[in-house]
Amino acid sequence: MNTTVMDHNMSSERRPGEERKFIGDRGDYFLNRIQGETNGNVSACYQCERCTNACPVSHFMDIKPHQVIRYVQLGWREDLLRSSTIWVCLSCEMCTTYCPNEVRVAEIINHLRNIAAHSSIAPKEKQLAVFHRTFLEVLSKSGRVNEFRLMKAFYSKPHILSEKIKSGNLKEELLLGLALLKKGRLKPFSTRSKLTKDIRKAYIQSRGEIV
Ligand code: SF4
Ligand code: SF4
Repeated sequence: MNTTVMDHNMSSERRPGEERKFIGDRGDYFLNRIQGETNGNVSACYQCERCTNACPVSHFMDIKPHQVIRYVQLGWREDLLRSSTIWVCLSCEMCTTYCPNEVRVAEIINHLRNIAAHSSIAPKEKQLAVFHRTFLEVLSKSGRVNEFRLMKAFYSKPHILSEKIKSGNLKEELLLGLALLKKGRLKPFSTRSKLTKDIRKAYIQSRGEIV
């Protein structure tokens, strides 16, 4: 049965024409699933907002970290998987560190990103989603991430180069790459890690494929 929700920490007042939100049909199922899969203490969150205040990029998120946790409690799966937040998050774990209740905010956002990556929902931040996938591909191939190889692989993905040219960011990024190359911070070559096989296995398993 649906229950209306008045969430004081998110939006206590509805704007004209705005739809009333309900607890997700399978709210408990989603909450239990996320808690079980991340070992996060989601039910313990009391919306103190310390996670959001500690987050260096919350300004760029459409659903703030403390709201992500509230959405999980309410079973608002679709909103989360369609959000920019899951792609903007840097996985820096500041939110997890500052949370007094061991909710594991960073781990939950990372997990939601993985669920979104395996779903048919188009990512709100397309370039960040492609970057995320490319990062994992490069990691699984050589067991470590070489920035030069990563950027080469990223720019080779469909539409990335043309979108960079269109946005006017290409020149700035190339100049930055050149500066890093000159300072020796960008190395064109790197050796493979001895753990490549294990990392590749974990990568394949995370995609739900049999090794
Ligand atoms: S810091 Fe922890 S308890 Fe506070 S709002 Fe964030 S997740 Fe909830
Ligand atoms: S892990 Fe993500 S949500 Fe948490 S503080 Fe860092 S950027 Fe913000």
